[in-house]
Amino acid sequence: MPQPPGKNQLATQRIPDALRQLSDCHLCAHHCGVNRLAGSKAGRCHAGSESHIFSAQTEVSDELEVIPTFAIAFSGCDMRCGFCITGKESWTPNAGVSFNSKTIAEQARKAIQNGARSIMILGGEPTVHLHSVMELCALLPEDVQWIWKTNAHGSPEAHALLEGLFDLWIADFKFGSDECALRLSNTEHYLGIIQSNILQAASHADLIIRHLVMPGHLDCCWKPVARWIADHLPNARVNLRGGFWPAWQAGKYPEFKNSSDNIQSDWNKALSIAEAHKLKLTL
Ligand code: SF4
Repeated sequence: MPQPPGKNQLATQRIPDALRQLSDCHLCAHHCGVNRLAGSKAGRCHAGSESHIFSAQTEVSDELEVIPTFAIAFSGCDMRCGFCITGKESWTPNAGVSFNSKTIAEQARKAIQNGARSIMILGGEPTVHLHSVMELCALLPEDVQWIWKTNAHGSPEAHALLEGLFDLWIADFKFGSDECALRLSNTEHYLGIIQSNILQAASHADLIIRHLVMPGHLDCCWKPVARWIADHLPNARVNLRGGFWPAWQAGKYPEFKNSSDNIQSDWNKALSIAEAHKLKLTL
């Protein structure tokens, strides 16, 4: 019986398809259709063909089941969340240092030898850089868990490149209404896209759904997100994140101006909503 291709081999096979996206980019659900080989700034993410990373190190602040993880953060993002905690790096695809797959793969190998349990690829939003991600995945040690941490706003084209490659997806479900997504992240048609992508991820990978509790957004965002998870993925693990920090341009939004005022009562209410929907909370 022929063996199915390993993760390195799968990634290698997909490099040409990922590179083709650069001349007519549909990697995320914005579907800009721009030629990124001609330079940067044409698409909504402002990314050209070269990738940068703003961090590559072993981290211990993620989900307990994956830490310590060697986390590789690509610069640039297709969404524009005004409260992003890595706003400068996420809005600037050439922030940080030039990406070199061999160097990062070697660092990952050393981190695993030194005790890291997993390798996490994140951003910004790593979907923007799938050509570089495939190049990197062709070289990473494949006998550890690979984690894809994403805003879940990828396109079907991105999913075709990613399917079967990552063991665990950590997917953000940030907003419970299209209005909030548009106002806070300049992203249209958010709900349908994210729900479809999360369901698709759950069909081929282990899944943790993350939701950050935002001041003033319990009723419009967390409640509908919790309800949807309970209705569609009742067994999904959910990492409900507290400790909202008014970073980047959060001061533009009235509800974030005095964000620490109700932080404890908001958190208690958020937990009650999770309990009412019998969600499987994880840390
Ligand atoms: S990754 Fe998304 S935002 Fe960036 S150019 Fe491609 S389709 Fe546009």
